[in-house]
Amino acid sequence: MKNALLVLCWFCCIGLNAQTVAFKNVNVIPMDGDYVRSLQTVLVENGVITQMGEAAEIKIPRQAKIIDGTGKYLMPGLMDMHVHFFTEQGIASKFMPQETKIMLANGVTTARIMCGDSQYLALKKQLDQGRIPGPELVVVSPQLVGKWPFRGPFFGVIADTPEKARAAVREFKAQGYAALKITFFVQPDVYDAAVETARAEGLPVTGHVGPDVGLDRALAAGQQIEHLDEFLEQLLPDTVKQRISVSGTSVWDKKKAWPTVDLLDVSKIPALVQRIKKAGISVTPTHYFLHSSFGYGQHEDSIRALPDFDYIPASLKPDRFKAREYFWTDPPPEALRKRYISLRQHLTRALYTAGVPLLCGSDSPEWFLVSGFSVHNELQAMVEAGLPPFAALETATVNPARYLGVDEQKGTIAVGKTADLLLLTANPLDDIANSRQIEGVFHQGKYYDRKTLDKLLKEARVLGKQ
Ligand SMILES: [Zn+2]
Repeated sequence: MKNALLVLCWFCCIGLNAQTVAFKNVNVIPMDGDYVRSLQTVLVENGVITQMGEAAEIKIPRQAKIIDGTGKYLMPGLMDMHVHFFTEQGIASKFMPQETKIMLANGVTTARIMCGDSQYLALKKQLDQGRIPGPELVVVSPQLVGKWPFRGPFFGVIADTPEKARAAVREFKAQGYAALKITFFVQPDVYDAAVETARAEGLPVTGHVGPDVGLDRALAAGQQIEHLDEFLEQLLPDTVKQRISVSGTSVWDKKKAWPTVDLLDVSKIPALVQRIKKAGISVTPTHYFLHSSFGYGQHEDSIRALPDFDYIPASLKPDRFKAREYFWTDPPPEALRKRYISLRQHLTRALYTAGVPLLCGSDSPEWFLVSGFSVHNELQAMVEAGLPPFAALETATVNPARYLGVDEQKGTIAVGKTADLLLLTANPLDDIANSRQIEGVFHQGKYYDRKTLDKLLKEARVLGKQ
């Protein structure tokens, strides 16, 4: 009964989205350029931005709810392009709405779910209907793999023949997934069949690139690439026999893959970047996840002190620490790990300079990351890689909107666009860390003030007890 009341309550709040809301005297970061428009009023009606202009010139309707934006900054809601749920790691799916609360409370208004399942499609429907608070979900397909030698739950389809790949892709399309996700151990003929079918079905292709597929094949297919997979391999000198470096699952390979980092040749970066640029693809580096897990490492005390830590299900923590111990007991030498980070940053800078669209993806909840919190870590990592704060913010607003083909509705603040908005107490263009200074979030026609966001976070702490 209590639950039924809660659901009803949410329905009421969100059902009020017919109201008019005015953000008054606010500094707007429209994200169509690296600038701020100060002292604006932004009017939102039925969840759509209907007016924006000098505060003195915009007439606020009498019935409007006024949100005082004095000294504050309004920017588009964040889009995290690489997200999973704890469900993939065995946590009951009834806790998924707790994770969507955490995302929203951290300013994420769109999340691309990078490993599909029918229960995520059902969750998406609930979110779209405003039945639970959370971002809009873009759900890609279950992962298409060549084999699955790992333990634990598996959210994917094994395709070891072209026929199986074709059938799987058609099924993904029929079930309503937004894209085809390809990951591990896929053989070239299977890859080609999957990509060809995806093209015929109108499904974009995203995911990992394995050494069997190789970068050339993925670029020719126009695949959107995650994690900078197979990029470092391209920097191996031609004279080196070993063709595997630290991409994909090889990040665990301390014996063979890691020593190659010393050999990687930075003079090959410009040509590589041109190939990527020519392919016209978007790239999601997922820096923070990889750098914090395998690059600089984190002391156990600092992991326990992370704001994410209390939301990680207790039952998953022992395995997390075990995996960490496996890598960090006798880790690759510090010089190699530092070079790994700096090469990935160098590549990212070069991609950005060449105009390759970069996407912000947190890859949470991998390791000790929790969705929502970790999108800000990734923005910070983009700046550490050498992007100006504006460009870092583009990776979570303009670029994903364009990549997903929803730039008419999302990604910038302009009249006619959906009001997915973040109200901040400080300017993220001055310091990217200010993206965390969230005063309120506007999504699906509803304004969540700080108090409401804190309430959502408090409720979501139940996750940590699982
Ligand atoms: Zn992932």
